[in-house]
Amino acid sequence: MRFLTLITVLVWLLVTTGAHADTLTWSDQDRRVDLTRYLDYLIEPPDGLGIEQIRALPPSAWMDNHAESINFGYGEEVFWFRLTIHPGLQAHTPLLEIAYPVLDRIDAFLVREGRAVEHQVLGDKLPFDQRPVHHRNFLLPLALAAEEPMQLYLRVETTSSMQVPMTLWDEAAFHASDQAGSIAEGLYFGIILVMILYNLFVYLAVGERSFLYYVGYITAMPLFLASLRGLSFQYLWPEATWWNDQAIVAFLNLVIVFGAVFTMRFLTVVPRTHPRLSVVTIAAIAMAGLLVVASVLLPYRMLIVPTITLATLTCSLMLFLGVYRWWRRDTAARYYTGAWVFMLSGGIVLALSKFTMLPRNVFTENATQLGSALGVILLSIALADRLNREKRAAFQAQQRLLREERKVRLTQERSLRIQQQANAQLEERVQERTRDLERLNAQLLELSSTDALTGLKNRAHFDSAFQSACVRAYRFRQPLSVLVVDIDHFKQFNDSYGHLVGDDCLQSVAEQIRQIVTRPQDLAARYGGEEFVVLLPDTPEVGAVRVAERIRKVVEQAEFRVSDDRIRLSVSIGVATLVPDHAEQTKELFERADAALYRAKAQGRNRVQVERPPQADPVVTPIKR
Ligand code: GH3
Ligand code: MG
Ligand code: MG
Repeated sequence: MRFLTLITVLVWLLVTTGAHADTLTWSDQDRRVDLTRYLDYLIEPPDGLGIEQIRALPPSAWMDNHAESINFGYGEEVFWFRLTIHPGLQAHTPLLEIAYPVLDRIDAFLVREGRAVEHQVLGDKLPFDQRPVHHRNFLLPLALAAEEPMQLYLRVETTSSMQVPMTLWDEAAFHASDQAGSIAEGLYFGIILVMILYNLFVYLAVGERSFLYYVGYITAMPLFLASLRGLSFQYLWPEATWWNDQAIVAFLNLVIVFGAVFTMRFLTVVPRTHPRLSVVTIAAIAMAGLLVVASVLLPYRMLIVPTITLATLTCSLMLFLGVYRWWRRDTAARYYTGAWVFMLSGGIVLALSKFTMLPRNVFTENATQLGSALGVILLSIALADRLNREKRAAFQAQQRLLREERKVRLTQERSLRIQQQANAQLEERVQERTRDLERLNAQLLELSSTDALTGLKNRAHFDSAFQSACVRAYRFRQPLSVLVVDIDHFKQFNDSYGHLVGDDCLQSVAEQIRQIVTRPQDLAARYGGEEFVVLLPDTPEVGAVRVAERIRKVVEQAEFRVSDDRIRLSVSIGVATLVPDHAEQTKELFERADAALYRAKAQGRNRVQVERPPQADPVVTPIKR
């Protein structure tokens, strides 16, 4: 740094040797004069010089300040400045303002008529209340006598950047301008204060740590600026002359720490997602953290250059992270980058002006505050936006989960339904099969109880039906009749016409019997060969005889054709009736009917015979038809 300054000075020397600053004439009409171009300066030799020795130096020792501003950057040299003021016709007391409040020590010597008349000491190494005018900048009233030139010598010694912006003010003009500046300043700090409180409350309400880091960041930022502008010295620690310089280092590094931590969280640049970038950021945070600790242990002079270098690098890194995340389609990064562009421009302008690469002027001095206020507001909006986005994302995730859950439930229900359907189908099929089987069984049963040739019931069926009819008749004390029907001379018929015709004949007789035996409970069956039986429950003898006669007549009258022959058949029928007095009387009843048949055959065939039990009257029961 020292080397740099030396080079600068040498260049100045080359350009400006022999030339001297313009002469300043100050009349009571003047309101404000920038003193830059009226100043001569020189660098004090290492051994130091007193005011008298300085005054005794030849004019060639002085250099004219040709630059737009007085800014020699960081260095260890002590500078002397010289200024001659030619007052107007009236005595006047303008204010000399040195608008760089972090200068360590300023010795001001007023020289009238060739002798030093006044020595004032200014600088932030003196307690605030020792200043001749209580103001954040250094102010010195210069009592000018009428038409009496005054020489002003300033010896400036500082560990900060060697910036000595000097202005001569009419007092009233100064206050007017200062008021406007104060309002701007107040506006800035007001905005920041509201932002701090707002984000602090949001943090307390929401618990999102980004807001806390952000609060840290926007607290450190104005404290840094206030320290740089002498405001914190004026209002916060007017006695703490040592801390006054250190505070700048401490707060600037805190800005870096909080800003970078906030950035990592806000842009989700974390080791898991961005291993290399986050290592770099964490390294910057660690260095800034070390510098914060160092700020209370080591002198300002050692720390300020590393701090400003780190700040510039970290600012660039933050901006890079913002652009990078924006490029990777992180929507939050849009606002972030916008905010950083504002803040960085301010910061970079300030840094460049400190390193003398930019002149010191109204813009460079206020750029930081303007950029910072805009950035702070934008970032606050960005935070709220991100919070909203996250809330919406969480809500959507929840909805998605619900939808998935519903889908799963629907699938489960569907599979359950399918299973139930399958079960029902299976059951139905089983029932169908069961029904089929039952039908088949019934068919089988029917078949097994049916005579294949005639379609009448067979003997087996007759036997069981006869048994139950007998039980029923006994239970209800009803008469039960049975007919035994036998075709006459059938053997002969068979022999004449053959068995096949005989079969047809059997079918025909069976059909004739079926047409007569029509009551639901009556039963006609083929008993075997050319013998049929008819069971007539709840039928007295008279009725049974009547049925028998009807059968006999029908068969007698029917003609049976065999080729051209007309054949007539006849049947003999034995009838027996009984009101059972016990349940097992079938055998007796059948034997009687058989006996009656035998008698009918014996008496000449084609007739009906009744067989009664010995000494029994015919069963007298009223005939029902
Ligand atoms: P009647 O009863 O009048 O005394 O003389 P019948 O010739 O009918 O006497 P019988 O009862 O002895 O003869 C039964 C004959 O019936 C014997 C057989 O030729 C004939 N027959 C028995 N079952 C069948 C049959 O299923 N089909 C045919 N075509 N003939 C049969
Ligand atoms: Mg027979
Ligand atoms: Mg016969």
